[in-house]
Amino acid sequence: MVYLNYMKLLITGGAGFIGSNFIKYIFGKNEGVFILNYDKITYSGNIDNLKDMEERKDYKFVQGDIADKKKLEQVFADFQPDYVINFAAETHVDKSIHVGAKEFVDTNVTGVFNLLEAVKNRKGIKKYVQVSTDEVYGSLALDSRERFKETTPFAPNVPYAATKAGGDMLCRAYANTFKVPVVVTHCSNNYGPYQYPEKLIPFFILRMLENKKAPIYGDGQNIRDWIYVLDHCEALRLCLLEGKAGEIYNIGADNGMSNLEIADLILSCFNRDKSWLEFIPDRPGHDRRYAIDASKIKKEMGWQPRYHFKEAFKETVGWYLDNKQWVDIVREKTGVFNPHIDLWESHQLINNDPKK
Ligand code: NAD
Repeated sequence: MVYLNYMKLLITGGAGFIGSNFIKYIFGKNEGVFILNYDKITYSGNIDNLKDMEERKDYKFVQGDIADKKKLEQVFADFQPDYVINFAAETHVDKSIHVGAKEFVDTNVTGVFNLLEAVKNRKGIKKYVQVSTDEVYGSLALDSRERFKETTPFAPNVPYAATKAGGDMLCRAYANTFKVPVVVTHCSNNYGPYQYPEKLIPFFILRMLENKKAPIYGDGQNIRDWIYVLDHCEALRLCLLEGKAGEIYNIGADNGMSNLEIADLILSCFNRDKSWLEFIPDRPGHDRRYAIDASKIKKEMGWQPRYHFKEAFKETVGWYLDNKQWVDIVREKTGVFNPHIDLWESHQLINNDPKK
């Protein structure tokens, strides 16, 4: 077993959903690690997620953009990390469709390029983990039993996924050409506390709290493979320590559920019936099914998901109910959560064409 003992860990995008859970998770391990969190604080970044870290001597926050090469290199020079992990990304598919993909290219491609260059130009960095997504693999048929393997060819269907695939391809090239010690992970959909409420689970909870119907895209049969965020965090910790440079690891908990099933579960938490669902036109390019084959990380690193969906899901819903103030502050600071729903509610979304 390897530990992060007294290592310096540079975390980019640590103020978002998974990054902030990861920072708390790593400190909870008490391995004496020093963390520098470099985050631009976009609409989905929330420094309040890490309020309880502010007094720690082993934690530092620097606000900055991974697309800002000069500033990023200065951070590398000053902090001299042993390990790097990148959570910084533009992550909302609907935004990449309805608002535009420019910021996605800047962060998810140029930002990753800058990180790879910075790691390449410094000796002694043990590992750089690039946190990516199963969405790069495209879509599986609903009636197939196929799952994404590390060898599945990339087939991104939406701008978000295409930019993530671009960053991942750069990682592959830098590992191969320059021997940069980079590991890429492809995880399935996460749920848990501190998730910006543009994403399905907190968004539906919020709609229920506001006595609004939960909007279901298309027929609601689209399947996602759900994993509790702390299971993802442990897999990433193992990838930092034991992941082989140049390799890819898929992460998932074998828990495929349709959007409709998730909506039903949330309705039942609020004692509401199906009349609280509203079927709306589908999102363009909406992938049908994702499913992850995580046998490689299980075999090589002994990783296993520890959380059971039923309990972890219930706890997650409870967290949003108990932390209504967190939601209210996020709403106050950032406004509209979902551009697809916004278009629908303003009657501009007809027949899947966002421009109409
Ligand atoms: P998030 O949107 O909650 O957080 C992203 C963080 O990155 C925010 O703190 C934001 O301020 C920061 N950021 C954005 N652009 C930046 C930039 N240019 N420079 C520095 N910081 C920047 O996202 P998340 O859900 O925590 O996702 C983190 C990573 O995990 C992403 O790469 C995403 O693709 C991947 N992922 C997410 C899921 C999921 O279900 N959420 C699943 C698989 C993979």
